[in-house]
Amino acid sequence: MNFGLDKDQREIKERAAEFADRAVAPYAAELDREDRVPFGTLEKLADEGFMGLCVPGEYGGAAVDFLSYCLLIEEISRADAGVGATLAVHTSAGTLPILAYGTEDQRSRWIPPLASGNNLGSFALTEPNTGSDAAAIETRAERVDGGYRISGHKQWVTNGRAAGTMILFARAVGGANEGVTAFIVPMDAEGISFGKHAEKMGVISATTDDVLLDNVFVPEEDVLGEEGKGLRVALGTLDPGRIGIAAQAIGIAEAAFRYAAGYAAERETFGKPIAEHQAIAFKLADMQTKIKAARLLVHEAAWMKDEGMRVTEAGARAKLYASEVANEVTHEAVQVLGGRGYMKEHPVERHYRDARVTEIYEGTSEIQRLVISRGIVREHAASLEAPGGVAATRPVVG
Ligand SMILES: Cc1cc2nc3c(=O)[nH]c(=O)nc-3n(C[C@H](O)[C@H](O)[C@H](O)COP(=O)(O)OP(=O)(O)OC[C@H]3O[C@@H](n4cnc5c(N)ncnc54)[C@H](O)[C@@H]3O)c2cc1C
Repeated sequence: MNFGLDKDQREIKERAAEFADRAVAPYAAELDREDRVPFGTLEKLADEGFMGLCVPGEYGGAAVDFLSYCLLIEEISRADAGVGATLAVHTSAGTLPILAYGTEDQRSRWIPPLASGNNLGSFALTEPNTGSDAAAIETRAERVDGGYRISGHKQWVTNGRAAGTMILFARAVGGANEGVTAFIVPMDAEGISFGKHAEKMGVISATTDDVLLDNVFVPEEDVLGEEGKGLRVALGTLDPGRIGIAAQAIGIAEAAFRYAAGYAAERETFGKPIAEHQAIAFKLADMQTKIKAARLLVHEAAWMKDEGMRVTEAGARAKLYASEVANEVTHEAVQVLGGRGYMKEHPVERHYRDARVTEIYEGTSEIQRLVISRGIVREHAASLEAPGGVAATRPVVG
């Protein structure tokens, strides 16, 4: 068993950390205040090759493993969780599904501009009437000659108005296989407009926009996967995507922990640094321990993905735990700073707000618990049937 990163992974982590400290962190408070898309930062990420880090070289990516991509997301999110969200959605939800489910023609047409960062990716599943229950989407894709005419309302699309493409989910009707279908759609297609720009609690530097579709023509060659099999694409995208969100959560928690630990060493009350009061010292011990435990779950799930294993439950466990840790740690970081923790001059106030959404997007904590518990039921049902009973059971994951 090896808990260490290999040489390439260590190098990526160091490069990402240096980049995050130099090119991302200095602008985080300003972007949080101003609610604008950080195009300059995205260009710098592209120059570093970070917009297509885990994309194969033949499509213009840096061809590193998924664990390295998670290290990048953690470091960028430590500096600015909104930029982390932009990068995570662009990569795991806007680019990797084309690699996983696309034809060779789709991969070679759509992926290179995404991997180079010339084009920002997005993922449009949620609608006003449905989020967790993805099978209930109402956006319609009517089969017409040569393709589909799509109309509907997509809500809270991360990268929305800044994106060049979206992986769009709509209900195909009038064709051979009715049902949820995935499409690759350029944002400049005729009939696309933008609705409300969301005013959010946190991750403010990641733009979140409603996308309105009015009779948008999408040619049949841009169906991603098979007609009527779009839920498979959605769920297969979210499984590894959740590992990236878990890495984002750890980045937020790590930032809050480091700041609180530094503050506790300096701030004195009753004649000694607050870090020497046991109540504060134990908070710091718990914060660090939980972050390290969450990181192990993330690295395990990312490693499993790199080994080609199924990551449905492992990704859900990593996201569930890391997002809850991020919320606990940022809560405690505010407490360690006392009144200063509540003030915008100190970044823990932003980390506290940024952490909240990690328990919500790419599946709420309740949905992660459903995914994990269904895996447990399957595993134990299988164990009862297996010769030798429970002891002979193979884990579902793997
Ligand atoms: C900042 C932000 C960015 C986002 N970006 C994107 C994006 O890029 N693309 C995209 O498609 N979506 C995006 N979303 C949407 C996000 O994925 C959904 O908000 C999320 O999946 C939850 O859906 P919902 O908000 O409709 O909640 P609902 O599904 O209405 O759920 C409401 C509550 O009920 C609980 N619940 C629902 N069903 C069950 C159940 N069966 N058992 C137990 N509890 C249940 C939920 O856990 C939640 O607590 C984004 C959301 C936010 C906040």
